[in-house]
Amino acid sequence: MKDIVPSPSAVVRNEYESIRDVFSKNVVPSYARFEIALSHGAGSYVFDVAGRRYLDLAGGIAVNCLGHAHPAIIEALTEQAKKLIHTSNLYYTVPQGRLAAEIVKRIGPGKVFLSNSGVEANEGLFKLARKFGHDEGRFEILTATNSFHGRTLAAIAATGQDKVKKDFDPMTPGFRHIPYNDLDAARAAISPATVAILIEGIQGEGGVTPATPAYLLGLRALCDEKKLLLLLDGVQDGHFRTGKYQSFQRILEAAPGGEKFLPDGLSMAKSLGGGFPMGAFWVRAPHADLLGPGAHATTFGGSPLACAVALKIFEVIEREHLDAQARKLGDWMLDELKRLAEVYPSVVKNARGLGLMLGLELAEKESIPAFASGDKTAAIQFTNRMHAAGVLVVPAGTRIIRLLPALNLKPQEAGEGISKLEEVIKSLA
Ligand SMILES: *Cc1c(COP(=O)(O)O)cnc(C)c1O
Repeated sequence: MKDIVPSPSAVVRNEYESIRDVFSKNVVPSYARFEIALSHGAGSYVFDVAGRRYLDLAGGIAVNCLGHAHPAIIEALTEQAKKLIHTSNLYYTVPQGRLAAEIVKRIGPGKVFLSNSGVEANEGLFKLARKFGHDEGRFEILTATNSFHGRTLAAIAATGQDKVKKDFDPMTPGFRHIPYNDLDAARAAISPATVAILIEGIQGEGGVTPATPAYLLGLRALCDEKKLLLLLDGVQDGHFRTGKYQSFQRILEAAPGGEKFLPDGLSMAKSLGGGFPMGAFWVRAPHADLLGPGAHATTFGGSPLACAVALKIFEVIEREHLDAQARKLGDWMLDELKRLAEVYPSVVKNARGLGLMLGLELAEKESIPAFASGDKTAAIQFTNRMHAAGVLVVPAGTRIIRLLPALNLKPQEAGEGISKLEEVIKSLA
């Protein structure tokens, strides 16, 4: 490991430390950041201010779907910036209409609202549900335990994890949690006030747990029976990451009746803009005009610049068949991760995921000798070791490691990632 990642010189160490000092004086300390200051990137590699190279299997948390400094994104940004960056939504622009059509084409009959982030896309779905149930006095949205839906006041109420709610009470009313992948529990939880059920197709922050086909199909039937909206949060698992445009399309591809499945609303963000901040939600046709003029708005959302970038990303993914490539490479990596779980059961308990949304479940911290006495979680300590080995990964919960690389990750880069993972795991076994 040492020869691959030499220690930075004293001068460079000072550079990292001075950057960190500027942060500690001026930036709200709401993030527990790793001790890395990044400077630039190319493809699936990023470089820190010390010139150290990292293989980026974190992908900016499932955002940089074409990697770093992709020429097509640079071109879309610069060409569109020369024409029109922003207009507000008082007017029509060509890119927003085209982008909405591209999204509708890939999900199903309906319409799209463009936002600036994932949490705003979810907020739109909450408002859609409230409006849908308003005249009947229904407002309650059921969400799953261990879910993650963002950090606004409504979204932390929706998120099924206590850690995001702590000290921010009283919670926004109208959200209740049900166990994930448990259809009976969903049925039992419905009250006269319930108007919608919202889940992630694959829980991301919660530890990379896919919904089962039976759960998705069962929720669809249950929502039809009880006149509820079925809402999917596709912010992390969407945009071809699983090998299909949306995760429900991959999860249900072999399920009888799966081809007819559609949610009533679906939120997107992360990879949609490939690093340019943007989000969107799609609403199924019968409800697509529910949010009428004046009901919802954003100043920045759907700007010509954002939409030009998103359109270019669709074009590149399609042209280079990155969906199929993500699927093939992801399936190979999952097999490798499962092999590591078999060879090193004292360190790795399990591996799961779909396409390039992968999770490695570590053993309990106490049973990994090198981690037992550290005050950080197993996930954080493991991530630090991966950084030292020159690979970026994302921790989730206390002992899940997530891999969310670019969809254009190359086979030899995937191989490099797996061998670095194996080195680190071996050193802990
Ligand atoms: C990241 C994420 C969000 C929040 O998106 P932001 O762009 O950070 O607001 C919501 N839901 C899921 C599933 C996410 O992974």
